[in-house]
Amino acid sequence: MTKSRRAQKPHKLCFFCGLPAPMSDEHAWPQWLGQGIELEPTQTTRTIGYGRTAEDAMTEAPNVVVRKKGSVLTARIREVCKNCNNGWMSRLETAARPLLERLCAQSYVFGRTTFSLENAATLATWSTKTAWVRERASNQIVTPTPQMRLHLKEQLLPPDFTRVWVARHQGRINFGAQVGQVETTHQDDRWDGDRLRHILMCVMTFRGVSVLVRTDDGWGAPQFSLPPSHWRLIWPLAGTLEWPPPESVTDNDVQTLATRYNWLRHPDVPIFHRDPNGIQTIERN
Ligand SMILES: [Zn+2]
Repeated sequence: MTKSRRAQKPHKLCFFCGLPAPMSDEHAWPQWLGQGIELEPTQTTRTIGYGRTAEDAMTEAPNVVVRKKGSVLTARIREVCKNCNNGWMSRLETAARPLLERLCAQSYVFGRTTFSLENAATLATWSTKTAWVRERASNQIVTPTPQMRLHLKEQLLPPDFTRVWVARHQGRINFGAQVGQVETTHQDDRWDGDRLRHILMCVMTFRGVSVLVRTDDGWGAPQFSLPPSHWRLIWPLAGTLEWPPPESVTDNDVQTLATRYNWLRHPDVPIFHRDPNGIQTIERN
């Protein structure tokens, strides 16, 4: 009885291809990235959200810090099918590895290096995949729609409404991920209109590099720009990637990126209600 019921249990749906299939574990970070680096024995994920709650106000959602045992390299999701994991995702990791190694290098002959358009697209695709898996590893609700995830798998390129920047990072953060989830109304609507837009802001910092991935689940939220002296836009493709930029970003730059909201003020709202509970810390095993 128990046995037959278990046999009938349907497979979960794969996060990327959407098919019911046997699942495998997908680590949020490739393991080689952590080689030779002393990692904290815990991983910390900070999740922040905010949305329009009045004509003139935005309100902060609970500001949650989750601490989990095990280094960041153990973060994984169990909803990627074996076909995806051993197929396109494995090939993407293989293609991205030498590019990431070059991006993270301490120095370059003649002080600089250039990534071709194709290289930049591979880096952007890898960054988008990693940010989405990272969001899923710490949040029940994710920003990219099933169609967007399928697009990434089928086209091996980020979908519409995804932007990716890279920067040189100098600071104490290593293997940090800031995950910001934003809910807002369509910019053409009143604040209480029902066309909601969801935005993921994920900043990942590792080996002296910070990557920012912004994914919107549709058109209608304002864009923002970052100083090109610090951040290089690599998706949508802006040209070859001249690396490194003249200036590095700091821990503070990285930490405030996922939590900034000024660019969401449409029109400008004067009030920002902070969550009265402050930062909630949750310890998980
Ligand atoms: Zn799959």
